[in-house]
Amino acid sequence: MLRRFGFGSNWIRWMRACVFAGSPSVLVNGSPTQEVNIKRGLEQGDPLAPFLFLLVAEGIGLLMHKAVYLHFFKPICVNNSNVSISHLQYADDTIFIGEDCVENLWCMKAILRCVEENCGHTKKLLVGWSARGEENCLGEMVGEDLVAQLETFISGAPIRLVDDSWSCTIGDDGQYAVKEGYSFLSENFLPELEVSANLSRVLKNQWYSVVPSKVIVFSWQLIRQRLPARDNLSRRGVPGLMKNSSCVWCPEERETEMHLFGSCRVALEVWAEIYKWIGIQSVHSSDLCSSFESFGFPFNICKKRRKGLCLIWHTVIWSLWKARNACIFDGKELSIHHLVETNKHVSLKWLIARGIPFV
Ligand SMILES: [Zn+2]
Repeated sequence: MLRRFGFGSNWIRWMRACVFAGSPSVLVNGSPTQEVNIKRGLEQGDPLAPFLFLLVAEGIGLLMHKAVYLHFFKPICVNNSNVSISHLQYADDTIFIGEDCVENLWCMKAILRCVEENCGHTKKLLVGWSARGEENCLGEMVGEDLVAQLETFISGAPIRLVDDSWSCTIGDDGQYAVKEGYSFLSENFLPELEVSANLSRVLKNQWYSVVPSKVIVFSWQLIRQRLPARDNLSRRGVPGLMKNSSCVWCPEERETEMHLFGSCRVALEVWAEIYKWIGIQSVHSSDLCSSFESFGFPFNICKKRRKGLCLIWHTVIWSLWKARNACIFDGKELSIHHLVETNKHVSLKWLIARGIPFV
């Protein structure tokens, strides 16, 4: 169709790439999720969409002209003159206008089918309406009777000027805030936690990271040793893991948090590659808190670089956990190269979405 309209081959290739090779991702709290390959169509709100749509609509118009010319479709003649109308188009609506005969219906069906086959799915609403009899005309269908009926219906509904609303009793102003909810719960229900100064600093700094909230919650679980790693599960007596709590990649080691994200051969290789990538000296960390702090916090660096490094730390632990799950639950083969590349890709995507320069 585009070729028939006279568009150049380069332009057609670009459009093909836009329509068939697009891969949008959704921003969740400012961080993009995994990309979805849409294969066919543009994402919603794409500025190109109305223009491409016009071309498709133009195609329907041309098909109708051809059908009228070949006498497949019988249009309506205005006042028995030579002026005939077969269709009207406005934005994304098309109205077919013709004589009420079965041939016209078959023709419309064939045209819609043809457009559907060529341009993907189309939404069709075929409504037949004859304007010959007085009793069927549109003026009477939406007449004064209907308006009067609507007014009677609406006047019975209770209308108030004040919106219904919830009021929170925790805070002073009646508005709920997560911070107030957290303080209330921790003061009234949580036991006092004995944490070292080091750990308390890490737990506080973790929340300033700009990764998606689920990743921060995950890293909090990790630092607090609350992850459902095999060693933790076996200590809690989860059936099936009492005898086998070894690391999925090194059978001789127990799968503790420190092993999985620190001393495991896979983790060591991934960390080494990431250190090389961001150009900082590899530091051996004795525990996960030090590992987190080695990523920016003890250095005298600017805020943005610190945020960037913190984001990369989160991405590494998140991707290690996902790779571990893929091996255990989906039986996927591990490729360290692929894991490192995914890590870099996700980190860059999150950095760009947050407007943080690469470290
Ligand atoms: Zn291991």
